[in-house]
Amino acid sequence: MKICSVAAITALLVVAEGCLAQTTALPTPESLLIEAKRASGTDYSGTFQRLCVAPDNLNRGGATGGGARPATPSAPPAPRPPPDRATWYAAPYKVFDNLYFIGTKIHSAWALTTSQGIIVIDTLFDYAVEPEMVEGMTRLGLNPRDVKYVLISHAHGDHDQGAALFQSRYGAQVVMGAADWDSTLQRPATAAGGVPKRNISVGPEGTKITLGDTTVNVIAAPGHTPGTLSYIFPVKDRGRTLTVAYNGGTAFNFPRTVQNFVIYRDAQQKMGEAVKQAGATVLMSNHTEFDQAFDRVRLAQLPRAAGEPHPYERDAATVQRYFALLRDCAESQRLSMMQ
Ligand SMILES: [Zn+2]
Repeated sequence: MKICSVAAITALLVVAEGCLAQTTALPTPESLLIEAKRASGTDYSGTFQRLCVAPDNLNRGGATGGGARPATPSAPPAPRPPPDRATWYAAPYKVFDNLYFIGTKIHSAWALTTSQGIIVIDTLFDYAVEPEMVEGMTRLGLNPRDVKYVLISHAHGDHDQGAALFQSRYGAQVVMGAADWDSTLQRPATAAGGVPKRNISVGPEGTKITLGDTTVNVIAAPGHTPGTLSYIFPVKDRGRTLTVAYNGGTAFNFPRTVQNFVIYRDAQQKMGEAVKQAGATVLMSNHTEFDQAFDRVRLAQLPRAAGEPHPYERDAATVQRYFALLRDCAESQRLSMMQ
């Protein structure tokens, strides 16, 4: 029998412990779900549930999603009658000094006012653009003719069908991810202004849209669709500047491939870093279920005590956790596909 020295055995144990530590540190689908749950905290439990726990339980039918989503952004949506107005109509509200909610109960659209006109963010389904956006702006004292830019987060009908109306009627420039323009342009014309003509295409490097005193940092965040755009922009709350992180695409309703989850994961990592650098303290989504927009725009109408924060304001770390949640859910899905 060979007698090993204590030193040799100790060295082996150290190596083994190192291996074990490395092994246990490797992320798994389950450990990433735990990380994502931790990132969601009490702020984003709905997003965690929707994305991580039941990722295939996507919008279906009626006003929530307008019917089954296309498998790819290039697949044209099936024509369908508008849902009952009572299921989607929401009154417009001024929410910040320079930001107005003109969306539905389900989908957000915003008017960002600047010193030289209005930037519109997302444009709803065609049936909602006139009553919510055109009439909504007018009710709030804004002139739709002042809309100079229309930013489209991605080429799904619940966000882009109203774009053509602003372009054809008011001469606004439509900004969209380059890859998403291709699918929008293949779409059948909608009742509200048809199909927009290609104006400003945003590539992987992103861009900045400046109008008067306001600049929107447009960040390519592919994943939900190949050309999804997310935004970082300033708003004012009673004169105090806050920074908004606007997430342009959330659900995993894209072709389920490892590569698509890599694209989604990396985009959310990139967006999270940009959000951290910008110090954003307001998180917004284009679906009201993810940022409670319907409730918060109403809370914003209530009087506030001195020093009480705006209903949308959080600390910067809370906003960053949203993007960690999206990243980790995507990575969990990717790893589960690899097993
Ligand atoms: Zn979408």
